[in-house]
Amino acid sequence: MIKEILVATHNIHKKEEIQQILGPDFLVKSLTDYGIHDEIVEDGATFHENALIKAEFCFRKTGIPSLGDDSGLVVDALDGRPGIHSARYASDHDFPTNIAKVLEEMEGIENRKAHFITVLCYFTEEGAQYFEGTVDGTLLKENKGHKGFGYDPIFVPEGFEKTFAEMPAEEKNQISHRKRALEKFLVGY
Ligand code: IMP
Repeated sequence: MIKEILVATHNIHKKEEIQQILGPDFLVKSLTDYGIHDEIVEDGATFHENALIKAEFCFRKTGIPSLGDDSGLVVDALDGRPGIHSARYASDHDFPTNIAKVLEEMEGIENRKAHFITVLCYFTEEGAQYFEGTVDGTLLKENKGHKGFGYDPIFVPEGFEKTFAEMPAEEKNQISHRKRALEKFLVGY
């Protein structure tokens, strides 16, 4: 039987990535699919707090087991920024402007180590469970590739010579932070 799961996002890219990773046994729905148009206020201080805020909001609203995903780019030389502020670092979900701000802050900096982090919160009537995934990599000095979303055009994952934005979705989804977190989620499902 196909399991329906509500993902606490309006972001179509995220919904599609999660659907692709979970596969045909799951039917992934977004807030938009349920006609819920509220902007969830993500005012937590950590990825965990924000993932909980999103998942609990959806569960309370619908009664359906809900998955909250909070993710972002953590840059070593920037003391972890943009971190939980990744989506709105310079401008709200304006990916090129947010990338430009990171590249500007990284100008002249040799240490280009960065990490994508995902924290998933699965909220049901039994409460919250958390699953984490990380992928390490380095930041380029300019954009390469047009696929994916967010900071994908400047992020080269460890062991590769191309950015996430140069990879077909299937390739990114084999190694991504979201894939690693979802794999842990699936173990206990
Ligand atoms: P959230 O929607 O609040 O979790 O914010 C996530 C933000 O982090 C996105 O808007 C992107 O800027 C960034 N981000 C998260 N995951 C990825 C990814 O897989 N590729 C590129 N950027 C990502």
